[in-house]
Amino acid sequence: MGRPAALTPPSGGLFRFKRAVWVGSPVCPVSAVTTLRAVVKRLVLASPRGYCAGVERAVETVEQALELHGAPVYVRKQIVHNAHVVRDLESRGAVFVDSVAEVPPDGLLVFSAHGVSPAVRHSARFRGLRTIDATCPLVSKVHAEARHFARLGYTIFLIGHAGHEEVEGTTGEAPQSIVLVENADQAESVTPPQAERIVYLTQTTLSVDETDEIVAVLRRRFPRIEAPKKEDICYATTNRQRAVKRMLGAVDLLLVIGSRNSSNSNRLVDVARAGGIPAHLIDDESEIDEAWLEGVESVGVTSGASAPESLVHRVVGWFHDRGVLQIEALDDAVEDVFFKLPREVRADAVTRT
Ligand code: SF4
Repeated sequence: MGRPAALTPPSGGLFRFKRAVWVGSPVCPVSAVTTLRAVVKRLVLASPRGYCAGVERAVETVEQALELHGAPVYVRKQIVHNAHVVRDLESRGAVFVDSVAEVPPDGLLVFSAHGVSPAVRHSARFRGLRTIDATCPLVSKVHAEARHFARLGYTIFLIGHAGHEEVEGTTGEAPQSIVLVENADQAESVTPPQAERIVYLTQTTLSVDETDEIVAVLRRRFPRIEAPKKEDICYATTNRQRAVKRMLGAVDLLLVIGSRNSSNSNRLVDVARAGGIPAHLIDDESEIDEAWLEGVESVGVTSGASAPESLVHRVVGWFHDRGVLQIEALDDAVEDVFFKLPREVRADAVTRT
């Protein structure tokens, strides 16, 4: 049996790929199927899934910087939380560092999609580094809210996960005003320094349902608490969680493609498990454990906002190589969000032409 040149829909199916390139391993499906203990008949692909506009922009920013300035281009922290993306950019000349101090004086430094605190910016400026800011505009929006409310004397409850880079960056905007609230228990016990002016903001990649619970506790305890004008949990996070919820009735197991440190990918696993469906986070097809597939007929596949579509193709290929030929994509919201590249990259590109 040869491999198909491209992934094609089963008759009457809803299978749709934007870039239908076959990348599965060259295993003959007929021989492989005899070794697969599972009875998987169908793959269901969530939609939307994968790259969001902020990740597209951040990855392209590093690519453009490499193109315009040549290697090395330094990136503070992982540009997006995906091991494959980081490795690929590394192979092309990006150097990922933990702190500004690691960048040589004449280095070019990119700030990642998760954003940085003003202290990090100051430190880069102090060292005279050239910088490009790839912070997602939706993270920058939360930063601006934090500065705004802090200026007005509010106590800001920031709902999010301690240690996450986005939370560190947002907290750095108003460290005197922000109190981190990680879960409903903390919402029950948190004590603001003053109870007159309180607002909550959130990390952009949280579970919508868990955040609603935390906010409900805060509203009960502080009835006059204010909210951001527009939801802080971003469109991509919300849409991917909604897509998973919609597919839960149709699958026995969910595989979420994403790295361990990807917050929004972990939340997709949480959403499936909360809905009673076993779910596993995998970086790629090599992490699929066949024991998970025992007695499973329909496998759902989705990917976090930082996982490239090529990894979905590899997972589909893994199943196809094992004789799973029924592949469907559920239709969901169409995403047409687009962010312009950072002005530093655009300006450099114009200077070159
Ligand atoms: S997940 Fe949301 S906030 Fe994060 S980079 Fe993507 S669009 Fe921006």
